[in-house]
Amino acid sequence: MPKKCVICGDSAVFQIKGTNNYYCESCAEALFSDTKLLVKVEEEAQAFKKFLDQQSEEQD
Ligand SMILES: [Zn+2]
Repeated sequence: MPKKCVICGDSAVFQIKGTNNYYCESCAEALFSDTKLLVKVEEEAQAFKKFLDQQSEEQD
């Protein structure tokens, strides 16, 4: 399920690590001078997929 920006409802690109606060690119840049403080939603999803892949490999 795609995450939505908590400000404008657009599809979110960034997340504050460890929270459920998601932001689109423009809102993230407006709110945070440094988007390095945020994690990319896509990276989190990929890390989770990698984790699932590893899990299934171990079951073989
Ligand atoms: Zn936004």
